[in-house]
Amino acid sequence: MLIATCNKGKLVEIGKLLSESGINVEALSLDDYPDMPETIEDGVTFEQNAVKKAVEASKYTGLLTLADDSGLEVDYLDGKPGVYSARFAGDDKSDDANNKKLLEMMKDVKWEDRTARFKCVIAICTPNQKIHIAEGTCEGYILDKPRGEKGFGYDPLFYYPEFKKTFAELDMHEKNRVSHRSMAIKKAIEILKEILR
Ligand code: IMP
Repeated sequence: MLIATCNKGKLVEIGKLLSESGINVEALSLDDYPDMPETIEDGVTFEQNAVKKAVEASKYTGLLTLADDSGLEVDYLDGKPGVYSARFAGDDKSDDANNKKLLEMMKDVKWEDRTARFKCVIAICTPNQKIHIAEGTCEGYILDKPRGEKGFGYDPLFYYPEFKKTFAELDMHEKNRVSHRSMAIKKAIEILKEILR
């Protein structure tokens, strides 16, 4: 099968959960298809983008394909940055600039209104173009200043109440136990088992 990403972190996380699940498949990534045209992520929902990535890559390769899209939804901002999470502060995709912009927009907002969630949608496309969807979410709060050095993206601002820490204060193992992405991958693995059966 194909994991339609070049992101090493995602590949490691998905590969690890796949091998633990006992599914016996060879997983390729987009690095194995350097000539494949890049998918334009112009959907207005995570699901639309994930489906588009999975369908285009499956058509190109003829393989059973898994693709994901993810981001942060802040309730006070009516779900923004959402599908625009990576480019919230502009096209150069800077985590620092995105976090700065988010802090600015959340200035003086009281704690109970700072609720937010990370969301991940995984689309699986079979070689005969059947689509399956798996979703994972993780609920938390947006802090008023960054905390922690680990992770990426909005992790330093995302406070996870159950651990009383931000995602940037968790090691990868702890984050992967509860993250939106690992929840979605676990559901996707159950779907894959069904498909392969
Ligand atoms: P993508 O799914 O790789 O396109 O991720 C979109 C954007 O959402 C990233 O660039 C981050 O800004 C944000 N994001 C998604 N997942 C996480 C996470 O686990 N921690 C922090 N930011 C995330």
